[in-house]
Amino acid sequence: MSDAITQQVNKRRTFAIISHPDAGKTTLTEKLLLFGGAIQMAGSVKSRKTDKHATSDWMEMEKERGISVTSSVMQFPYKGRVVNLLDTPGHADFSEDTYRTLTAVDSALMVIDSAKGVEERTIKLMEVCRLRDTPILTFINKLDREGREPLELLDEVERILNIRCAPMTWPIGMGKGFKGIFHLYHDSVRLFEPHSKDEGELIQGLDNPRLDELFGAMAQDLRDEIELVRGASDEFDLEAFLAGEMTPVFFGSAMNNFGVTELMDAYVEYAPAPQPRQTKTRDVSPDEDVFSGFVFKIQANMDPKHRDRIAFMRVCSGHYTKGMKLHQSRIGKDVTIANAVTFMAAEREQAEEAWPGDILGLHNHGTIQIGDTFTQGESLQFTGIPYFAPELFRRVRLKDPLKNKALLKGLQQLSEEGATQLFRPLDNNDLILGAVGVLQFDVVVHRLKGEYGVECAYEPVQVHTARWVYCDDDRKLEEFKRKASLNLALDGAGNLTYIAPSRVNLDLTMERWPDIDFRATREHL
Ligand code: GDP
Repeated sequence: MSDAITQQVNKRRTFAIISHPDAGKTTLTEKLLLFGGAIQMAGSVKSRKTDKHATSDWMEMEKERGISVTSSVMQFPYKGRVVNLLDTPGHADFSEDTYRTLTAVDSALMVIDSAKGVEERTIKLMEVCRLRDTPILTFINKLDREGREPLELLDEVERILNIRCAPMTWPIGMGKGFKGIFHLYHDSVRLFEPHSKDEGELIQGLDNPRLDELFGAMAQDLRDEIELVRGASDEFDLEAFLAGEMTPVFFGSAMNNFGVTELMDAYVEYAPAPQPRQTKTRDVSPDEDVFSGFVFKIQANMDPKHRDRIAFMRVCSGHYTKGMKLHQSRIGKDVTIANAVTFMAAEREQAEEAWPGDILGLHNHGTIQIGDTFTQGESLQFTGIPYFAPELFRRVRLKDPLKNKALLKGLQQLSEEGATQLFRPLDNNDLILGAVGVLQFDVVVHRLKGEYGVECAYEPVQVHTARWVYCDDDRKLEEFKRKASLNLALDGAGNLTYIAPSRVNLDLTMERWPDIDFRATREHL
């Protein structure tokens, strides 16, 4: 174990923001980047907002993909630490992508709108974080507007999300009467000065007469309220936070960049550095000397001018240096990685080096799949990066039959991204597209046209669900393939899949073939 690696690991923080659309994720991201000195121009993050709009908006905004997708990973310095922020699409139709991105972080930040409280997407995303006990920080946003009572909000988080809350800061008033926040652990009040570039005045001590001077009788109310809050809520417990059982809660206004320093200071102090990760054979510790990482996301045509496909790899251990030779476990081959990129805010840069917790962008020429593990020779496979069986299916109909080759290429490449999956029946030449959310179908048509010059449409298809098929007994599998061939297909990666025309058919088939394993999720083997 080298000191250099340990030192870099301790400096790293890798997280994602989870929120219901409109809670303020984009605004907060922008402020964080400004803070970190990573971008000069406010507003540049706005163009990422491709995910929560109606399809037509999505398409329109997608034109700005050059910027939009590059910022799906952002690295910036903050108070001596290196922070990696991974973007997650807000729209529910992209939940698979979000799920896999959350496997690549060590902590998450939950943003809640103070007027709305816990919303539906927040609940879903929280469930995903639960699966890995990811530590969560909470930011309650928009205190400059009338919202709900803070104690009531904490109660709702505890009740609905089943996680204990430890308020770290506490709001003083709200909406028009919003005066600032009190830091329960620094015993200080930060005054709210809307639209000010500078941080508001800091008043040390709750008993400071300056508060009486400023707030009059409200100062005593504040003291009483804080006493009540201290009595009624849990104290911050680092261990419980790291175990995903407690969330420290901060109040503020992202738009006014208020309360964000308090949040980020605590974030870099308490949020975990890169954590050990499980593989099929052993746990990998981040400060191991040898390099390892896994691919959690693939994005085709990020830069339309270069028609490239980028595989996003989370570094799990060791030290990446430019030109390094890496072993791709799934295909058992060594590849030299000469031109990996890192993501410094809005720009892609050639990566000279990377450390655990960092995200590297690898140029993919169709040989990399989501879930792939790269090492310095050891054959490892990181676990927990699944594909889900799609719920919706369409047959793809090509408008110009001469473009069949381009269509196949496009569908293949877009399905590598994992948002849609391509199925090719064994028995005929159909191309069946499966997706978890309906918006993804529209996106594929749009992108096929824009990126591959292919026009196509969809037809309904009698497929209810798909299951990946596994069987240890080769003879049984062959027999199954013969007898069930009408409903068998290969997915984009060549895996055998049963595409069931109905729920009843699936149940009957499973009953008839007890030796065959029908799986609703797929991980690399
Ligand atoms: P996202 O969908 O979670 O990325 O949310 P956005 O960051 O786009 O914010 C949604 C809307 O809320 C936008 O109109 C923002 O300007 C607004 N907003 C964000 N933060 C605040 C805040 O602190 N106060 C107020 N009043 N509005 C905010």
